[in-house]
Amino acid sequence: MADNVIRTEDEAPKGKLVKLSTLWGFVRAYKPQLALAILFLVIAASTVLIVPTALQGIIDKGFSGDDAVAVNDYFSLFFIIVAVMAASTALRFYYVTWLGERVVADIRKAVYERLITLSPEFFEENRPGEIVSRLTADTTLIQSIVGSSFSIWARNFLIAIAGTVWLFIMSPKLMAYISLGFPVTIVMLVFVGRRVKTLSRSSQDRVADVGARANESLGALSVVQAFTREQAEASRFATAVDDAFKIARKRIRVRSMLTFAMIFLIFGSIAAVLYSGVQDVISGSMTGGALAAFIMRAAFVAGAFGALAEVYSELQRAAGAAGRLAELLSAESKIKAPINPKKMPEKITGDIILKDIDFAYPSKKDQQALKKFNLQIKPGETVALVGPSGAGKSTVLQLLLRFYDPQQGEITIDGFNVAETDPTDFRQHLSLVPQETVIFAGSIMENIRYGRLDASDDEVRTAAKAAAAYDFIEASPDGFDTMLGERGTRISGGQRQRLAIARAILRDAPVLLLDEATSALDAESEKKVQEALEHLMTGRTTLVIAHRLATVKKADRIIVMDNGGIVAEGTHSELAKKDGLYKRLSDLQFGDLN
Ligand code: ATP
Repeated sequence: MADNVIRTEDEAPKGKLVKLSTLWGFVRAYKPQLALAILFLVIAASTVLIVPTALQGIIDKGFSGDDAVAVNDYFSLFFIIVAVMAASTALRFYYVTWLGERVVADIRKAVYERLITLSPEFFEENRPGEIVSRLTADTTLIQSIVGSSFSIWARNFLIAIAGTVWLFIMSPKLMAYISLGFPVTIVMLVFVGRRVKTLSRSSQDRVADVGARANESLGALSVVQAFTREQAEASRFATAVDDAFKIARKRIRVRSMLTFAMIFLIFGSIAAVLYSGVQDVISGSMTGGALAAFIMRAAFVAGAFGALAEVYSELQRAAGAAGRLAELLSAESKIKAPINPKKMPEKITGDIILKDIDFAYPSKKDQQALKKFNLQIKPGETVALVGPSGAGKSTVLQLLLRFYDPQQGEITIDGFNVAETDPTDFRQHLSLVPQETVIFAGSIMENIRYGRLDASDDEVRTAAKAAAAYDFIEASPDGFDTMLGERGTRISGGQRQRLAIARAILRDAPVLLLDEATSALDAESEKKVQEALEHLMTGRTTLVIAHRLATVKKADRIIVMDNGGIVAEGTHSELAKKDGLYKRLSDLQFGDLN
């Protein structure tokens, strides 16, 4: 497994509570809140154990009727304890939950900050969907542990230990009876607990399958409906849901049996203790109040042990989640700035050289996407890349953006080897118009401003005009404030492209990388997009993957690619004269127009 591969649920670091230590790094930042949480937790736990003492006083003094003052005192004590218990429990809840929410917010931010800088290679090895679920599901698990399970565990741990000691002091004999049933309970808890854990893990996996299935089919609803596969999809989904249910049923069954056994054992031993305790009360060696207090305290202690067992499995799940998040947090981008990156000047001319490039994608190491590839683009030149699908055209853009590093050769811009610069520094000089326009959920204004965040409203408007997008934007319901859906579905393909072009115009970078959309536009939109593109290309070094005849014809130079290499180059008229790949391609792609 490559170092970058994030483990899935099944491969999660197993049961290592040590992994929870990752959390400490985040919790540590909030020591005052942590201290308060612990303080109130200890107070709340202590009050729980003291309540039976007050009860003991009330029973012993109250029922005998000969010490009314003492009864009142015990009742007052009882109320004070109750008040302290209520207040400290509420405050513990506040601080612990606050910590959970705060820590999870910090973890989410830290993980996202890391993810957003990782190179595409990471997301090829790890499915983005899976990673997003880590960001939401795993962090939610952590939230439940920091914000609740851990405090439940700590409180019950305190009650269990302190209560056991107290019970021994109150009546070693009765405690000895209880202790007899103890090993059986523990052994059962451990064995059955393990089974429950395995089952709940597979139950989670099945639920994830359900999610994946729904995600896939709902995401491609138009294909599903166009092929009239609604019923088929529904039954595939139903199978996934039923599988999840079957596993859940097994888990529930085991848990119910565990619940039966636990309750039977606990209350069975309470009954045994009660029987023996009543003998002691009759013989006078114990007061009725003391017996009641003992039973009550024993019930609290038993409850505490039960809760400990219950949260233990949750702690383990959270440990797995913490481990996986720690892996995400430490994931290293394959594309990094060197220790002392070379700083490029503010303004560059856009002189690009790709020299002797050999490149294979990390996921397809045995297949060269570019072989001994050489290309120089002079400042201000427009170079069109054409070639059959899979020739390597997009790969050239990917390398120029330094999403990957070539295995051999180097890429320089204005004499700077891009591998020696900080990617975020040199990418400032590039502007990309991708084939698929990405529209973010937000207004048209925000979407264009994505090209340069500090652009003023006027600059955005000017860019929109230059991209021939102004008219349709003004005609939209709210003009530039019109909200675009998550995927920009409310505007046409041609309009999207013009927004992408406006974004690139606003960016105003000297090097333009253009992956022309292949989607067929109507003649009117095509003309508008073409005008916008021409405006954009003026005065910039442009490398364009060309699908439009107009772009190809206007290019200063056309590079014909096949199989990861250059097979011909020249202008349109030069190449069209030769009988070769270009002629065949242009006949096919551009029809008889040429
Ligand atoms: P098209 O016009 O269809 O987009 P192209 O000329 O742009 O094709 P590239 O996308 O550069 O071709 O692909 C070149 C080769 O690299 C192909 O064999 C392709 O399968 C492979 N390839 C492209 N992207 C990846 C990737 N992310 N991981 C692995 N292999 C890839």
